[in-house]
Amino acid sequence: MQASVEQQNLILQVQYLDDEIMQANTKLKSLPEVEQLAHIEKRITAATEELATVNAEADAIALELRRGEVDVETVTDRIKKDEIRLNAGTASPKELEQTQHEIETLKKRQIALEEIELEIMMRSEAVQERLKVLNTDLSSLEVLKSEINGRMTTATTEINLIILAKQKSKADLIPSIEKPLMDLYLKISGSSNGVGAASLVGNKCNGCHLAINAVEMDRIKGLAADELLRCEECRRILVRI
Ligand SMILES: [Zn+2]
Repeated sequence: MQASVEQQNLILQVQYLDDEIMQANTKLKSLPEVEQLAHIEKRITAATEELATVNAEADAIALELRRGEVDVETVTDRIKKDEIRLNAGTASPKELEQTQHEIETLKKRQIALEEIELEIMMRSEAVQERLKVLNTDLSSLEVLKSEINGRMTTATTEINLIILAKQKSKADLIPSIEKPLMDLYLKISGSSNGVGAASLVGNKCNGCHLAINAVEMDRIKGLAADELLRCEECRRILVRI
């Protein structure tokens, strides 16, 4: 194919713009904030799951505590009733002895139940403390997530503006490029990782970075400037610069 030196330079400029667009897109995908956000999300999920577990535990302890309180109340009530009966002085000596014995047993039971209640209260305090820590952690994580999101939006906006500017420059160039040359560029670019044209620097193709052999270099040197070159290795358009 024939193409003027100007046309060859234009296609190389399109390639440079495509290179910059590809680099910007890679940068978008590899922003450190993407990984940071994924990490924070994982921590938020784990903390939320733990919070649900601890909340369920707190509910169970609260129920246990209410039952414990009722048990203590029941025994305390019975002791009071027994004491009233004892003080009324209407019971027979045998009944008095039985009631006194019952009060002693109930008091032992009361002490045991109060110890159980105390132990439940201690567990309740520990679980409430854990809930407080988890809620604080979650709030900090949410703040961090929002900060990272903000940074990512700023970075993404900047990169997208660069991409838009490069796409505009490319669109401005394309009408000046002859259609067969542009079509060839697009065809090669589509099958060669977005690189359709490369410069020839010394004896090296900047597309595949391979050296061109001496015989081919001699042949190239003998060709007219408007003869469109193709790299023998990667088949990309080769532009002498
Ligand atoms: Zn090559």
